[in-house]
Amino acid sequence: MKRIVNFINGTFVEPRGGRFLPNMEPAIGAPYGDVADSEEPDVADAIAAAEAAFADWSRLPAERRSRYLTAAADRIESQLEAFASAESIDTGKPITRARALEIPRAIANLKFFAGAILHERGEAYITDRSAVNYVLRRPRGVCGLISPWNMPLYLLTWKIAPAIAVGNTCVAKPSELTPMTAHLLGQALRDVGLPPGVVNIVHGQGSSAGAALVADRRVRTISFTGGTRTGAMIAAAIAPQFKKAALEMGGKNPAIVFADSMSAATVDAVVKSAFSNQGQICLCGSRILVEASIEREFTARLVERTLALRIGDPLEEATEQGALVSHAHYEKVLAAIAVARDDGGELLCGGGRPASLPHRCRNGYFIAPTLIRGLGAGCRTNQEEIFGPVASIIPFGDEREAIEIANGTAYGLAASIWTNDLARAHRLAEALEFGTVWVNCWLLRDLRTPFGGVKNSGMEREGGDEAMRFFTEPKTVCAKTE
Ligand code: NAD
Repeated sequence: MKRIVNFINGTFVEPRGGRFLPNMEPAIGAPYGDVADSEEPDVADAIAAAEAAFADWSRLPAERRSRYLTAAADRIESQLEAFASAESIDTGKPITRARALEIPRAIANLKFFAGAILHERGEAYITDRSAVNYVLRRPRGVCGLISPWNMPLYLLTWKIAPAIAVGNTCVAKPSELTPMTAHLLGQALRDVGLPPGVVNIVHGQGSSAGAALVADRRVRTISFTGGTRTGAMIAAAIAPQFKKAALEMGGKNPAIVFADSMSAATVDAVVKSAFSNQGQICLCGSRILVEASIEREFTARLVERTLALRIGDPLEEATEQGALVSHAHYEKVLAAIAVARDDGGELLCGGGRPASLPHRCRNGYFIAPTLIRGLGAGCRTNQEEIFGPVASIIPFGDEREAIEIANGTAYGLAASIWTNDLARAHRLAEALEFGTVWVNCWLLRDLRTPFGGVKNSGMEREGGDEAMRFFTEPKTVCAKTE
């Protein structure tokens, strides 16, 4: 049994209250260790360590901070297999995915900001001939970084890297459901000699450890990724303190398929966008909007491709679909499928536990990829985030209707458009109310671009320069030149 404790001031320490939560392996439905159930005093210790480390760290030349980030990236790269299997065991996702995508993307985050901090641009303006204005960007101090379970290391490094690159220190609170890769990250940071207190990792529940981090007045910046309901709670908690916050939240993303893009490659990509990571990616295309003229044929091909997905033990190399993250989430997704059925949806495939599972996984939280059709765009299935392997097919008549259906939810995270008509793609990209619009692709990311959602999906953009800027405080200096 593996015990995960907090990483505070460069050392691993037990939670003061001595309490632990079971750390489950979702593929087998049993605990494989436990994790610190931290409370306010543990968070306070971590914040104090981060505060104490701030002065030295923020004064360090950017080049030195950059070197620590690169060293951490290299350290993870040298332990890629250990990180990938930890992520697979913790989350239930196929190890092939963790190894090929998510751990490498976490490494890329660290490397990207290690480079970006060396190429930071400044701003200066000459006001006629009377003054020169320049903008000083200072780090903000201790940052509170709260991340979810679906891509635990990727999303945590996405916050830690820009925050510390610009000179902040931080207290990170990973999801209590998937703490293992954050724990390994703490070890990697210690191994590369990151000064104590620069990154502190406190494990525990959102309602205790997370809320304590949000509430503490010494933390002036919060970067949160998670559900919209939690984001709303955090926004309400910090409003009276006027903290700066980036909130990256849920989505109900459309994949919009036009008749001219009908091909095996499009079918493949749309299935991938719906079911990758068991549909537990905030960017998954859970509403499949299909031009009515091809609905029949496209749906048949979608079902065929979905049924071919190999469900099984996430640690097996051949597995394409693993387990959902927890029993509670499994129950929530099954309840959402029941709602779809009650509302008159036709289940084309999936709908419950897969017909067969390896013996080791007989108690795991598996749901077969589920395709539904026949539900109106306004029904719950097409409005609420399910965040599981469930996608609904919605036909549309023309471009105008596609835009209306796509924009007709409270969310605005990401959309994908599948068409060979270039002009149409650009028209839609302009009209769609989403933070990211993909054209004939999905999940491609260039870290230099802003990332984040609109409406109930997000507040503040992260990514590239925007991420670095988010973690700084601008100050304008206006000096008279005459
Ligand atoms: P969640 O909101 O339940 O938890 C996210 C994190 O917030 C966890 O670390 C949790 O412990 C913490 N938390 C919970 N309550 C808190 C509180 N009151 N105060 C402070 N922290 C608290 O989300 P989840 O179930 O872990 O993740 C799934 C959600 O995340 C989905 O809605 C998904 O769309 C979203 N997500 C969004 C993005 C994005 O970039 N927009 C990326 C990944 C996941």
